[in-house]
Amino acid sequence: MRRISILGSTGSIGTQTLDVVRKNKKKFEVVAISANSSVDLLLQQIKEFKPKYVAVYDEISALKLKSMIPNDIKIEVLSGMEGLKAIAALDEIDVLLTAIVGMIGLVPTLTAIKNKKDIALANKETLVCAGDLVMSEAKKHNVKILPVDSEHSAIFQCLNGEQNKEIETIILTASGGPFRGKTKQDLLEVTKNQALKHPNWSMGRKISIDSSTLMNKGLEVIEAKWLFGVEHNQIDVVVHPQSIIHSMVQFVDSSVMAQLGCPDMRLPIQYALSYPNRTINDFERLDLAKIATLTFEKPNLETFPCLKIAYESLKMGGTYCAVLNSANEVLVNEFLEDKIGFYDIPYYIEKTLEAHNSIENPSLEDILEIDKWARSFVKNILTK
Ligand code: NAD
Ligand code: MG
Repeated sequence: MRRISILGSTGSIGTQTLDVVRKNKKKFEVVAISANSSVDLLLQQIKEFKPKYVAVYDEISALKLKSMIPNDIKIEVLSGMEGLKAIAALDEIDVLLTAIVGMIGLVPTLTAIKNKKDIALANKETLVCAGDLVMSEAKKHNVKILPVDSEHSAIFQCLNGEQNKEIETIILTASGGPFRGKTKQDLLEVTKNQALKHPNWSMGRKISIDSSTLMNKGLEVIEAKWLFGVEHNQIDVVVHPQSIIHSMVQFVDSSVMAQLGCPDMRLPIQYALSYPNRTINDFERLDLAKIATLTFEKPNLETFPCLKIAYESLKMGGTYCAVLNSANEVLVNEFLEDKIGFYDIPYYIEKTLEAHNSIENPSLEDILEIDKWARSFVKNILTK
């Protein structure tokens, strides 16, 4: 029995995690759930999964949820960052599944690691802004970081029984997003509704915009560096529009391993929760003859500068990736609120990176400070 706490149970990954649990009540138990403010869905989840704890980040929503819970349900309602930290560190859990969006997941993730909880990690922003810190804390506390992101789950599966030092190249596949094949000229005026329409995956709003700019792939390049201990020049991106090959590893002897499957996030979620075992399920099986063709192409860095900027930030090291992430979080929000255009995202990220004084080996406090700085820097230039 794996006892699970979920950061962000009401989102795309969170609800799919609960579906994995729903189909396997003998293997998985949900001890704690959490969200920013979606109290109606939380209440529904409480009734179905009977967790012992719920954390609501927004204090007013936490009070509201408290008043909504029927008297015969015994549950502790927590709130704020303290609430998220508490459900990350519970004695009664084995694993924290991080399905929260944004670098706000960093502190609760580190809290779980310090309390020796394995991490099933979907919240890539945490590794992007503090990969070195998170991985070294995990090593120190003998904690496993189990990837949920489909590409990283694929790589993780390809590395079963292999040694990381024999990796020559990691080949991350990218669907190309909704704007594959377009030129910069085509995209100057695109709206958020066009950007939110992903061809193969239905996901949260932030990651959907990141997929449309290819920043998502950039964040995944950085995530791969930290998860698998490789250098930036050992990570390649290839566009594969069918999203059947979830990623590949090329070894020093030229052999390439790949993991394939229908696009369904429940598989990598279930694998992370079952590792090192596998769990039988009724998910759709791959029909290669029906798919018939798998295609590959180079990403277009002119149309999608965010991918290039992410590589550059990783190469520069220090705290550039943290700044990249924070600036991107703010700018994606602004784009979702129709306040800026599509290409303002990379433009202002670059401006923020240029103004940043990077430091080596940052502490958690340094990273939190840099996050604050980057957010206010972006907001300031936008108001000017
Ligand atoms: P989403 O927007 O659908 O859900 C986000 C969840 O986080 C919600 O439950 C929300 O309530 C919660 N949340 C947000 N702010 C919070 C706060 N301050 N305190 C507590 N909870 C908060 O996002 P998603 O698509 O599920 O993505 C979640 C993470 O997983 C992201 O880091 C994303 O990059 C990653 N990821 C998602 C997918 C996917 O298919 N959706 C695939 C790979 C990786
Ligand atoms: Mg992914």
